[in-house]
Amino acid sequence: MKPKMKAAMVLRFGEPLEFRECEIPAPGPGQILVKTEACGVCHTDVHAAKGDWPMKPALPFIPGHEGIGVVVAMGREVTAVKEGDRVGVPWLYSACGHCEHCLSAWEAVCAEAEFGGYTRNGGFAEYILADPGYVAHIPSGLTSTDAAPIICAGITTYKGLKETRAKPGQWVAISGVGGLGHLAIQYAKAMGLLVCAIDVDGGKLTHAKRLGADLVINALEADPVSAVRDGTAGGAHGVVVTAPSLSAFKQGVGMTRKRGTCVLIGLPPGEFPTPLFDVVANCITIRGSFVGSRQDMAEALAFAAEGKVKADIELQPLSAINQVLERLEHGKVASRVVLDFAR
Ligand SMILES: [Zn+2]
Ligand SMILES: [Zn+2]
Repeated sequence: MKPKMKAAMVLRFGEPLEFRECEIPAPGPGQILVKTEACGVCHTDVHAAKGDWPMKPALPFIPGHEGIGVVVAMGREVTAVKEGDRVGVPWLYSACGHCEHCLSAWEAVCAEAEFGGYTRNGGFAEYILADPGYVAHIPSGLTSTDAAPIICAGITTYKGLKETRAKPGQWVAISGVGGLGHLAIQYAKAMGLLVCAIDVDGGKLTHAKRLGADLVINALEADPVSAVRDGTAGGAHGVVVTAPSLSAFKQGVGMTRKRGTCVLIGLPPGEFPTPLFDVVANCITIRGSFVGSRQDMAEALAFAAEGKVKADIELQPLSAINQVLERLEHGKVASRVVLDFAR
C-alpha cells in the first residue's frame, strides 16, 4: 500500500472542503515533493473554492498558495534545489520560461502560467508537488509560519509599492490597512518612503501608526482625498489601493500627486469610472499589479528575514480550514490565518 497524506479538497464549488486521505504524489521528472510545514489562507482561496472567477479550477483540487515546507523527494533532472531545502509553493506555480513576458521577468502574466492551489494542487495538504524552478527560497531565520503570508500577501504589496516608482523620502498613500495594507506599510517604511494610511476602522489606524505610518486618515471622519492632498502637500507620489472597494479605487486616483502613479492590487468585482480630465491634465498613471516575479519574491522575503516586515498571523490547524474560509468570506479575520501543520 502506498503512503497516504491528509488533504482538504474542493469536490464541488460552494461546498465545504472535504478531508481526504490520498496517496502522497510521487515527483516526476523536473518535479519536487514538499512536506508542508505551514500554509497561509488567502481570500483567493475563498474564490477558488466557490468557483467565483471566469476561469475555474478543474475539480477536485486542493487549494492553498502560501505553502511552506521542506523538499523531501526529487524527480530526475532537478538541480535548482536539493533535499532538505525549505521552499514556498506560491500562486505562480510555474510559467513557460520563454515567452516575451517570461524573458523580461514578468512571468506572473505568462499565458501558460499555472497557479498553485488553483490549476495545480496546493498547500492545504501534508505534501505538495512543486516546480523547483518557481518555488520561493525561504531564508534561514524566517520561520515557516512567518514566511507563509510573505509569499502571496507580502510579494503582492511589495511589488505594488515598487510599481508606484516612489523614491525614498516621497509619499505613498496606502488605502486599506487589512491583510495586504498592514504589510504594505512595513515594506514602504523599510524602503524609505513616507507613509499615509487610510482606513475606516480606528483600531486598524492605531495599528498603522504602531507599524510606522507617518499620517493616518479615517475615511469616515474626513474626505480622504482632500486629507491626503493637504497632509502630503499636493498628493501622494504613489498610491497603493489594497481595499477591494470601488470607491477606494476612485479615491486612490484623486489622492495621486501630479505625475504620480496609482497602483491597484485589490480585486473588487466590477468597473470604476476614471476621472479622465484629472488623469490626463495631471499626467497620472493608473496601473494594475499582480503578484510579482521570482526576483521580487526573493526581495520580499529578504525584508522579512531581516525583521523589517512581519505579518500579523493567527495559527490554526488544517482541520479548521472550513471555519477559516467562512470567516474570511464574512470579513471576520483581523490578520492573516496560517495553517500550522505542527499542530
Ligand atoms: Zn493569495
Ligand atoms: Zn511565459
